[in-house]
Amino acid sequence: MGAAADEDVDEDEDVDADVDVDVDVDVADPHGTHDRAIGSYLGLALGDALGAPFEFRRRTAIPDPLPAFELGWMGLPPGTWTDDTAMARNVARSLIERGGNLDLDEDDVRRRHLAWLATDPPDVGNQTRLALQEAARGAPEPARAVFERRGPEVSAGNGSVMCCAPLGIARAGDPERLHEEAPALSAITHWDGRCRTACLVVTLAVAALVRGVDHERAVLDAIEAGLAHEGGEELEFLVGEVGRTRAIDGPDMGFTLFAAALGLRVVGEGLGVEAGLREVVGLGGDTDTNAAVAGALLGARHGWSGLPADWLERLTEREALVEEGVALAVLAAR
Ligand SMILES: [Mg+2]
Repeated sequence: MGAAADEDVDEDEDVDADVDVDVDVDVADPHGTHDRAIGSYLGLALGDALGAPFEFRRRTAIPDPLPAFELGWMGLPPGTWTDDTAMARNVARSLIERGGNLDLDEDDVRRRHLAWLATDPPDVGNQTRLALQEAARGAPEPARAVFERRGPEVSAGNGSVMCCAPLGIARAGDPERLHEEAPALSAITHWDGRCRTACLVVTLAVAALVRGVDHERAVLDAIEAGLAHEGGEELEFLVGEVGRTRAIDGPDMGFTLFAAALGLRVVGEGLGVEAGLREVVGLGGDTDTNAAVAGALLGARHGWSGLPADWLERLTEREALVEEGVALAVLAAR
């Protein structure tokens, strides 16, 4: 963990980031919970959109300084987010519709993912596509069937960790539920135990940060909670090593523990949102997913008011994302 300074938190601050959206966000937020909940949700999309133009590049092929929100993705304008945000929105909308009392409904999330897949999105992860196709054929445990057919060597992709943060936001006030719900969320598309552990640790960290727990404490506690689970020790090791002794831009670039570890590292070391996301994308590899996870964690610490305003301005469908973030924040503050 690094030694970066904590900013002072204005305990009386209202949620009122400097953006022009048609939604009532001027709610009393004495502890900053709403601000951090919305910040985590928007941070995920912001990181995704920042990293999208550089997806799958080697570290040495990433321009320095990074042209942020200047380049497009798949012929679409700068600010376009990818499957990470699309799937996270499915998770968020499902949680919002069910309210705070009901548990995560995996069938409902799966239905939303299937509806999204039917729109023929420009980018869908392999494992996700296979699991959803299996589900469309009526398999009872579709992701398990794909896992057992393909084996663990190719099953620990980052397709579930990239979209799990909304669950952590929604459970900020009741994180014990994450021990059941986060692995279950992963298993909709990613059955592998390491994917489940990555989702558990990331959602626990997001929940703690949204609650206002100190960033180092939040990260250390989340990592510790993962230790009893498959891949937990490897994740703990990687948090100190990703992008340093362990390159993340090679053939294994889409590994779920890389995405989780890198996000935990930058928030645990105390980086700000912009510096943290620039660092993550600059390491190459699966840049949009790595930055989506990091963005959710950094946004959960620094809040909506701490996100770079000029990046937010260029984020695709920002108003709709803010509305969903506000609704998630209501669940977070319960
Ligand atoms: Mg993506």
